[in-house]
Amino acid sequence: MLAPPALALETEKALDLVGRALFLPTWPTVPVRWNRRLRRAGRAIIEVRGGRFRGAVIELSPTYFEVYPEDLAGILVHEAVHVGLAVQGRPFGHGPEFQRACAAAGGLLHSRWLPGRVFRYRCPVCELVLERRRRTAASRWCADCVGRAEAEGGDPYTVPRALRLIGTAFSGPERPGEATQPVCDGGERAPDAPRSGAPGCP
Ligand SMILES: [Zn+2]
Ligand SMILES: [Zn+2]
Repeated sequence: MLAPPALALETEKALDLVGRALFLPTWPTVPVRWNRRLRRAGRAIIEVRGGRFRGAVIELSPTYFEVYPEDLAGILVHEAVHVGLAVQGRPFGHGPEFQRACAAAGGLLHSRWLPGRVFRYRCPVCELVLERRRRTAASRWCADCVGRAEAEGGDPYTVPRALRLIGTAFSGPERPGEATQPVCDGGERAPDAPRSGAPGCP
């Protein structure tokens, strides 16, 4: 996770770029916060009441940016476009106006797969580090070292030879770098916003 001053600077840059693309000279305060429970790279929660913009918050997934820190500027621009369109009372979903402004401001239209958590184990015999998607309750052993011990006639399944959990990490899917996911769900309404009024997501 980025330190608050660095994040504030990145946000300022994104708002500036989007402001120019949308001809929006001034912005309301747009807080940016981390949300560990996000299923996407980010989201913009937009509050519209009576067809008028009331406020917005941008949320970012710390998991996503731990693996793809270089996407931060592009995702911030993406979310800022949702907010900027809402400020102007325009449709703020992923429609044509969004696409045009997002591209003009240098934002990302797609994100990469949200990484998953992996457990890292080290074999105490050969020092090999393995990654597992699940944490296992029972002891596990390194296949190479089991094979070697068996060939030498020793007992491979002893406690000192078992894999040791050395930590967790976030790791992308098998083919990282594929831009296949929507960045977000398209500018979400704040929960108390009415359903009628300004147009929303497509
Ligand atoms: Zn081993
Ligand atoms: Zn979006």
